Amino acid sequence: MSTETPLELKKTVNLPRTGFAQKANMGQSEPARLKRWAELNLYDLIRRAGAGREKFILHDGPPYANADIHLGTALNKIVKDIVVKSRTMLGYDSPYVPGYDCHGLPIEQHVERALAEKGKKRADLPVASFRRACREHAADALQRQTRDFQRLGIFGLWEDPYLTMSNHFEAETARLFGRFVERGYVYKGARPVYWCVYDQTALAEAEVEYREHTSPSVYVKFPLDEGTLDGKAFKRELLGNEDDPRPVFFLIWTTTPWTLPSNLGIAVNPNFDYVAFDNGGEVYIVAADLLNDVAPKLGIAATDPGAPLDGTSTYLDRVLKTFPGSRLDRLEARHAWLDRPSLLMVGEHVTLGGEADAETELDVREARDKKATGKAGTGLVHTAPGHGHDDFVIGKAYGLDIYCPVDSAGRFTAEVEHFAGERVFEANPQIVDFMRARGVLLFSEEYAHRYPHCWRCKNPVIFRATPQWFVSLDAALPDGREFEQDEDGRAVSNFTEDMTGEPVSLRAGALREVERVEWVPAWGEERMRNMLRGRPDWCVSRQRVWGVPIPVFYCRACEAEVADPSVVNHVADIFERESADAWYTREAQDLLPEGFRCGGCGGAEFTKETDILDVWFDSGSSSVAVLEKYEGLRWPADVYLEGGDQYRGWFNSSLMVGLAAHDRAPYRAVVTHGWVVDGQGRAMHKSAGNSVSPNEVIKESGAEIIRLWTASSDYHEEMRCSPEILQRVSEAYRKLRNTARFALGNLDGFDPARDAVALPEMLELDRWALSELDRVIERALEGYRTYEFHTVYHALYNFCTVTLSARYFDIIKDRLYTSAPRSHARRSAQTALNYIADALARLLAPLLAFTADEIWENLPEFKAGALAPSVHLAEFPVARREPDAGMQARWERLFEARDVVLRALEEARAAKLIGSGLEAHVRLEADRKTYDLLEQYRADLRYLFIVSQVSLTLLPEEAGALRVSVGRADGQKCERCWNYSTRVGEFTRYPTVCERCVEALAEIEAEGGAA
Ligand SMILES: [Zn+2]
Ligand SMILES: [Zn+2]
Ligand SMILES: [Zn+2]
Repeated sequence: MSTETPLELKKTVNLPRTGFAQKANMGQSEPARLKRWAELNLYDLIRRAGAGREKFILHDGPPYANADIHLGTALNKIVKDIVVKSRTMLGYDSPYVPGYDCHGLPIEQHVERALAEKGKKRADLPVASFRRACREHAADALQRQTRDFQRLGIFGLWEDPYLTMSNHFEAETARLFGRFVERGYVYKGARPVYWCVYDQTALAEAEVEYREHTSPSVYVKFPLDEGTLDGKAFKRELLGNEDDPRPVFFLIWTTTPWTLPSNLGIAVNPNFDYVAFDNGGEVYIVAADLLNDVAPKLGIAATDPGAPLDGTSTYLDRVLKTFPGSRLDRLEARHAWLDRPSLLMVGEHVTLGGEADAETELDVREARDKKATGKAGTGLVHTAPGHGHDDFVIGKAYGLDIYCPVDSAGRFTAEVEHFAGERVFEANPQIVDFMRARGVLLFSEEYAHRYPHCWRCKNPVIFRATPQWFVSLDAALPDGREFEQDEDGRAVSNFTEDMTGEPVSLRAGALREVERVEWVPAWGEERMRNMLRGRPDWCVSRQRVWGVPIPVFYCRACEAEVADPSVVNHVADIFERESADAWYTREAQDLLPEGFRCGGCGGAEFTKETDILDVWFDSGSSSVAVLEKYEGLRWPADVYLEGGDQYRGWFNSSLMVGLAAHDRAPYRAVVTHGWVVDGQGRAMHKSAGNSVSPNEVIKESGAEIIRLWTASSDYHEEMRCSPEILQRVSEAYRKLRNTARFALGNLDGFDPARDAVALPEMLELDRWALSELDRVIERALEGYRTYEFHTVYHALYNFCTVTLSARYFDIIKDRLYTSAPRSHARRSAQTALNYIADALARLLAPLLAFTADEIWENLPEFKAGALAPSVHLAEFPVARREPDAGMQARWERLFEARDVVLRALEEARAAKLIGSGLEAHVRLEADRKTYDLLEQYRADLRYLFIVSQVSLTLLPEEAGALRVSVGRADGQKCERCWNYSTRVGEFTRYPTVCERCVEALAEIEAEGGAA
């Protein structure tokens, strides 16, 4: 025993000490850490560390390089980053090459506006100069996005992202078009496509959006042509006499009166019943099931005005004849006012739901929903093959012209009598008035419905037949070919070598691949299948210039098309050197192979196609253009991860390109995320004032808050975000940070190599904490493996706030602070804390990329130089300890007892019986079972409850499991540990401390003083 002066008590308490600050101060700490990562070349270090490991490739869907990032873009990149970081820490080599979608209409429009501001017109510029301006705009925008993505802590090859406007990408896009040509998928034809009359371009399906729109709904009569033999026979059947003076009319219904001048036919369903009914001098034909709906609209009085309209007999005695729709097949009507026939045709697409599906093919389910609801129309569908998909299909089948007398600006051409030069939407009311004056309009009203609109200018679109390039979904091609790999592990197709096997179309191939792909969430499979089933041929041409030109030539002499894969590849090689600008700067002769001649006429002069490829063809080409180009990547990717709108967009076009290139889907799994909405679940709009700007959140709270918000939301569903929600996320962040800080602070002076206690020698409570850690490790790793990141977050958050903060840390605080620094009891707790802090840093790293690295740097082993320079070079922890089910069950019960005691203490505090829990003496009465457990842990109970004294007695049977009463602790408060003890004052050297502290102080003195 030392004879020196007693120690100063305050200095003998082990207070936490750490460089891990309580306040994150992310405004400064995050940029500093980004700088450190850059100096480390961290992304390269991760690549080198992963060399030789099994690969995991997330292929980036390219955001559009036009505007700054918004919360949805940030979310998308963060979820991808969580995938890449977690796969890396699961032991994969997971390189991430980000990309940008650089071509397309919005950039052209932006550049046009910028030119207009300078008083210039696009037409004043050569195409190559205009394209240069587009290129510069995209380059600017993507640089800003890159800066913002990096600020969010997203790791990737940011110095060399893939750009759809790079020479290589443009060349590959052209080559892939050649591949589609080579395989016989490409054709040129007039077909109705979505057309924006304001932007004057065809639109892809993914470029139209449905909005509410009010259209004129009109009921129009088309007379039966009684001049034909068939017409005569039919009239005889209906009226018993072909000379009956009453004319017979087919009633059609439409919400697009402007398509009536293009009417060439009337479609009916062969399986429905139709009726001819008398309307005092005229005979009308409608579907039998719609008679009661149509007749009142025409102002026809019910036979019995008192009878309810929903009755079936209301108009029955007006019916002259009932017959199946098939009876009408190939009869002829006359156009309602033009001197031309309108052919009766039968088609299953005709429904009782009103509109034909011409405008609703985009979303098959939407069309089905519409069919299922309410009756409208007449069961006779006005058919204009140039203005609708179903119209086109049935018109083709019946040999009708694909007639489209509407120009690119939406104006009727000169051949349209009465309305030439009128814009179609403005012609609608004129046509209605015209028909009324002519007496062919029976009824009209305003009709609100969902109608496709242009995604850019938000105006309603039309269907318009124009010459376009198409990729056929149904052209059958040989199948049964196996996917092969070359020596570098890249996918190659042996299509050209092996043409045997059963034919398969792109659609059939795609549907086959859908079954092989893993869809997360699982409903994605059905969604994709529906998209593919309803998808019409892919219109890949656009009448614009900022994109990849369709590398096709036309013979000047005979007008033959030159769509030849070897010519395409020749052009692509030029693009590879000079970019696709070459198409506009070189003459056709300088783009064709030397001495090229027309295969038809031998001509040597050619013109160039002026259309470019759909941007979805560009981005769809990325699997080949990127995965097969960048070192370390491979085709196919393991996962594509995008928003749910990409089922009809990028997932779809990528699948088509994958099939053309390698007969396979370019992805093994597809993960989708939901939309970002505001706190009430409404869409975010700048104009509505409810949008959350990621850059502002970063400025105020740090990128970590956006990352944690992303991680904490179930991203498969709609994700809500608002200032209040972010406030809660910040609160959660503080709790996680404080948990890490407690662990790190109490590891001060702990050297794991020297001080760690072997697991079997650890105190049981510490072993319990590690078994809980094992459970959370397992849960987190399972969440990472299955892309369920919100379950990772919730597991870690609950572990930190409940298991650690509210239980374990609360209990061991006394031991950590008051035991001798090197005592076994304290070292045991520190051993557990070291495992916990290390595991938290690793498990949190994919979610909290910055903070986890900060935890990492404050671990004792990091400071000892025993750890990698960043947590992002580490792997996830492994749950190694054998689970001790008996021990876990005992502690569960002890914590149940603790909850009862804590409630009793709370009541005692409220009654002012005690202040702190250490002023309490807890008396427990327990039944046999509980008593036996508590008795086993009698010495631990006061620490478990954080009180000074606990006494325990056995309760007779039937009196309940546990009773708790709280009294004041006996003895005096120890100056050092604040526990009460009857023995304070017994010790002369330290008269103000308890027996426990005296022992600790002796140890400290023996070790040579305070730590
Ligand atoms: Zn538009
Ligand atoms: Zn020719
Ligand atoms: Zn004490």
